[in-house]
Amino acid sequence: MIVVFTDLDGTLLDHETYAYDAALPALAALKARAIPLVLASSKTEAEMRPIAAAIGTDQPMIVENGAGIANMALPRGEETNHYESLRRFLQTLPQHLVGLFEGFGDWSVEEVARRTGLEPAAAALARQRRFSEPGLFSGSTEQKADFSSLLDAIGYQAVQGGRFLTLMPKTSKAERMAELIAHYRRTTTEPVRSIALGDAPNDLAMLEAADRGVIIANPAHAPLPVTERERHGFISRSQKAGPQGWNESILQLVGTGF
Ligand SMILES: [Mg+2]
Repeated sequence: MIVVFTDLDGTLLDHETYAYDAALPALAALKARAIPLVLASSKTEAEMRPIAAAIGTDQPMIVENGAGIANMALPRGEETNHYESLRRFLQTLPQHLVGLFEGFGDWSVEEVARRTGLEPAAAALARQRRFSEPGLFSGSTEQKADFSSLLDAIGYQAVQGGRFLTLMPKTSKAERMAELIAHYRRTTTEPVRSIALGDAPNDLAMLEAADRGVIIANPAHAPLPVTERERHGFISRSQKAGPQGWNESILQLVGTGF
């Protein structure tokens, strides 16, 4: 059994237009072979649901950059509301750290739209969070270290992205992919082989951990570094960008049975 894990923006979706038409032949080939397609993105479940419905996948989804998995029944005892825990943490900070972190939960939809560049309707979906809280930290380096160690003590981490500092569980897209591979193994007696596709540094661990990784060309970013896995032929690079590259890579891999 093959399972495909894919990033969305700049990978399956065009970096500029978010279109995926160019990938329709490969999406049809996956469907024809009953190969599950798992979407793995920094987006929220609310943002990903309409995309999953349009693409026609009903598999579990890796959401909020690996902070959580949506669309899957969780084992008992794992229904922690991480977002509530993080918001409670922010409300119970010691005096010297109060108010230094502001996140999506502190901002109105209009403010999230202004700070992210999203349209208000999209910002409203990005604000529907379940597992992680992106925001801005305005304190000193020392205050940020204090803040991070308090977060660490309650089992969370702060991950610095291009724009926001994101508070989230100590997980990643790669760890969530491993959890889902274990899940698929329980559904079949066949060996489970994984293909992962992505375009950015936050996808690299996932591409490294997959049986086959594909770096989708993204002319908007510097190319990802060449790793040992790529030198050994387990990671390849698409020639074309976004959904065009996704299409040719998937058709080639599933066509050859890799
Ligand atoms: Mg991307």
